[in-house]
Amino acid sequence: ARMHILVCGGAGYIGSHMARWLALRGTRVTVLDNLSTGHRAAVQWGELIEADLRDASALDRAFAAHRFDAVMHFCAKSLVAESVADPLAYYESNVGGTLSLLQAMRRHGVERLVFSSTAAVFGHPMTDRIDETHPLQPINPYGATKAMAERLLADAAAAHGLRSVALRYFNAAGASDDASIGESHHPETHLVPNVLRAALGTGPGLQVFGDDWPTPDGTCIRDYVHVDDLAQAHALALDYMDAHPGAHAFNLGNGAGFSVREVIAAAEAASGQAIPFSVQPRRAGDPAVLVAASDLARAALGWTPVHNALAPILESALRWHRAPTF
Ligand code: UDP
Repeated sequence: ARMHILVCGGAGYIGSHMARWLALRGTRVTVLDNLSTGHRAAVQWGELIEADLRDASALDRAFAAHRFDAVMHFCAKSLVAESVADPLAYYESNVGGTLSLLQAMRRHGVERLVFSSTAAVFGHPMTDRIDETHPLQPINPYGATKAMAERLLADAAAAHGLRSVALRYFNAAGASDDASIGESHHPETHLVPNVLRAALGTGPGLQVFGDDWPTPDGTCIRDYVHVDDLAQAHALALDYMDAHPGAHAFNLGNGAGFSVREVIAAAEAASGQAIPFSVQPRRAGDPAVLVAASDLARAALGWTPVHNALAPILESALRWHRAPTF
């Protein structure tokens, strides 16, 4: 029978790309989202259940109405600086929300979960490229909430047989090929959309948060990975769980780091526009460098990212930002 996946957070940036990816390949999708940061207009590939993860009765109604084969969980508050300023809201939403979802899955006998985790679980890297043996030592509340949620998954696997794969994204970027959906937060805090909106004259002036970091050009280095490559990894994670009980975690990046200045230069090349910027103080909670080693995801899941360079990532994002619909 056709698979039916519950995509929690499917109105958000990565979740909506996941819903599209699954639906285009014949999987039935139901989205659950409280629309706190997601967009109704991004839900184009399945029914929307407008509900909060912490609403146990709403989850009971959703799980009773449908026989889900698995859950993909993208709901979270995900801004590092905001998590430093308002940590309790992050623990409530990210830990409380995940806990509530796991309890509902257990009540309804759904035993497979793909979970959105983050490079922020690692804190300051102890190696040039971060692999899965790196200790989890988050340096901000956002990363701490995701590390706690991973621990919930491990304990639930041991006690209740819940199968899960946590995927730690490095920096998700880019947009769907047809530019039907893309990255849009209000306010926007992410580098790639801010750089492109500055290039197109559709956003405020670009700010660079710190040029005195211990990196070659003084700006922070990140590993940018295309949102559709992340979607591919989630689909592979579902297959992986068939043969692998327990709780698993994989790091997802391209293994190449780019500084903020390099991203700006690449966006200038993609757009043909000069992008002026002002240098501002460092942003709270940011580490200097985050680059993934994703060899394990490639080997174990068979993950093969196809947009694995800065130019195609920026070009796809640029197509969305030229005519955003939300
Ligand atoms: N950044 C910046 N200007 C912006 C947005 C982000 O200089 O308008 C920097 C930020 O300090 C970080 C990097 O770009 O070093 C990536 O930030 P983003 O918020 O996109 O992702 P994060 O790494 O926080 O998940």
